[in-house]
Amino acid sequence: MGFCYNKPMPLLKDYIREPKIAYFSMEIGLRDDMYTYSGGLGVLAGDIVRSAADLNIPFVAVTLISRKGYFNQEIDEDGHQIELPAIWEPSRHMNTAPERVSVRIEGRTVHIQAWVYFVESLRGGSVPVIFLDTDLPENSEEDRQITDYLYGGDDAYRMKQEAVLGIGGVRMLRRLGFKIKKYHMNEGHAAFLTLELLHDYKRDIESVWDESYIWDVESVKELCVFTTHTPVEAGHDKFSYELYDRILGDYFPKNVLKRLAGEENLNMTLLALNLSKYINGVAKRHGEVSQDMFPGYQINAITNGVHSYTWTAESFRRLYDKYLPGWANEPEIFVRVGVIPDEELWDAHMEAKRRLIDYVNTVYNAGMDYHTLTIGFARRATAYKRADLLFYDIERLERIGTGRLQIIYAGKAHPKDIEGKHLIEKIYSAMKRLRGKINIVFLKNYSMEIALRVISGVDVWLNTPLRPLEASGTSGMKAAHNGVLNFSVLDGWWIEGHIEGYTGWSIGPGPEEAKHIDDINRVDAEDIYHKLENLIIPTYYNDRKTWIRMMQNAIGKNAYYFNTHRMMRRYVTEAYIR
Ligand SMILES: *Cc1c(COP(=O)(O)O)cnc(C)c1O
Repeated sequence: MGFCYNKPMPLLKDYIREPKIAYFSMEIGLRDDMYTYSGGLGVLAGDIVRSAADLNIPFVAVTLISRKGYFNQEIDEDGHQIELPAIWEPSRHMNTAPERVSVRIEGRTVHIQAWVYFVESLRGGSVPVIFLDTDLPENSEEDRQITDYLYGGDDAYRMKQEAVLGIGGVRMLRRLGFKIKKYHMNEGHAAFLTLELLHDYKRDIESVWDESYIWDVESVKELCVFTTHTPVEAGHDKFSYELYDRILGDYFPKNVLKRLAGEENLNMTLLALNLSKYINGVAKRHGEVSQDMFPGYQINAITNGVHSYTWTAESFRRLYDKYLPGWANEPEIFVRVGVIPDEELWDAHMEAKRRLIDYVNTVYNAGMDYHTLTIGFARRATAYKRADLLFYDIERLERIGTGRLQIIYAGKAHPKDIEGKHLIEKIYSAMKRLRGKINIVFLKNYSMEIALRVISGVDVWLNTPLRPLEASGTSGMKAAHNGVLNFSVLDGWWIEGHIEGYTGWSIGPGPEEAKHIDDINRVDAEDIYHKLENLIIPTYYNDRKTWIRMMQNAIGKNAYYFNTHRMMRRYVTEAYIR
């Protein structure tokens, strides 16, 4: 990605003087050769850290080392996904701190070390990222593997990872000498940190009639910020209390824990909700959906963004540098996108497009060309994203698109997500069926590098989530930074970014109306075909001027707003300094 680089190790002691915001995330996307992310949640965490560094926000991030990564994706000829460990070597990127901490897990003392990576802004700011690691000789063979696989293993493995992240993370920050003024939980995975803080704020009282009184919930709440990302109940981490007994035992009294995290299950989201003063969803709509899911809590909304510089292709960086100097650290400057001459905007797009088409032709022998309208769809392969919706009526797609469309896919399915894997197979079979008519290619091993290449090099960015499951979505914001037009279901951020025929196009009915429709797949698919045939294809081939006007609007209205610089300024004023 070229943005984060490592100079000789800065000194941690230079970082601990000023009190910091501590940002906890199970995954983080910093560089492509550090396999510590799986998808949107981790890429967002990386973008947050990059913006915090640019904006000089006093910030430190805490995550797990994930030595064996999420996984490397291979795909066989029939579209079956094969998962291989994604092993990487932390010492090639960073050093360890001399300090160690430990957490008691299953009655054993598990020792934890910290790798420290510094994300440095081209503007001089920098943010340390602490990677927790249990792969130490003094740990048992089993415990050495706790920080190996991102989202791997069973419930027990997950709870151990979350104990290392939440409890180990707070202890490590303290041991390293950090003073922390807010703890920000990116999703419920880190919610055990609240219990560790409750231990710190325990009231010193000999005997009380109610044991919960000795736990100073209010003081801990003052310290905690929680961002929820999951608009469905089933998506939240829940553990049985038997598992808690086995793994964390008497770490925290269970009768009090049950009041904070749920009577029946240990619900990590509930724990975070009950111990955070500021809670938010990741788009306006998601805030409302979360508010319905969690009545009794005040759920705010700060819509996500992306790190503008990271997600802008080389040709557009040059263009913006020429006409909109300062854009990378002040994306509001995109409001003046109109000063860029149409031809130069189109040239920058064609340069990014040629780079992508050359890549898919060379590596995948995709047989694509520069002048055919190109649709991109790349994101985690999971059922609600409906990667196969475009093939709902494949004959109709064939009629509309033959000789006029080419399509680029990418995305990993979680190893246990059978439906997600099935989606990849469906794309492969459509690819075979339409070969020579509509060229389709599936790029393996979706990563940030491939994301930038695809997102900037296609003409249209397609997104078809099942409402309301796309909490925000960020890849469409990356597309907008490169003048690529969104064609998307009205869910997540697109409800806020969409102006029909102006910044892009919607698919299907709005979020309220969609609730009352049973065969939403059919309705959405029909709208895709209708708009492709009557609006998108004709505009692309016959009305280049309108197309370029829309590209400008995507930049001037969408990239202008949906960036992590704006988002972080809001976190600072609405969540961190309250
Ligand atoms: C941006 C990004 C995502 C998130 O994409 P969505 O469409 O928002 O789900 C996932 N994976 C990678 C590698 C990304 O860069």
